[in-house]
Amino acid sequence: MDLQDKRWATAIQKAMRSGVVPREMYRVYRHGILKATVYTVPSATNPELTSYEVTISQNGNLSCTCPAATHGVPCWHAALVWLWEHGLIEGGAIWRNSSSHNSSSGQ
Ligand SMILES: [Zn+2]
Repeated sequence: MDLQDKRWATAIQKAMRSGVVPREMYRVYRHGILKATVYTVPSATNPELTSYEVTISQNGNLSCTCPAATHGVPCWHAALVWLWEHGLIEGGAIWRNSSSHNSSSGQ
């Protein structure tokens, strides 16, 4: 994810507002080494019927099966998994650190 991309910032904001927690599906190992983790994230518009698979690799690459992501557009599903992997959301509630107000400087 390119944190300079404004579309990612929008996706992250939507993910944080969603109240959704990604569900871990499975992990991908190669020669015993963790390569990627696959999550499922429900669609915002139709959570009962539609969910997407988000894969985050150990080097931080994100991919999602939703229509936007397949066209190269940053989506909130991937953003949600990114937040989750970084411990920024927990149990459906967003960790709000009062001392640092949303300065998403990245890494
Ligand atoms: Zn997506």
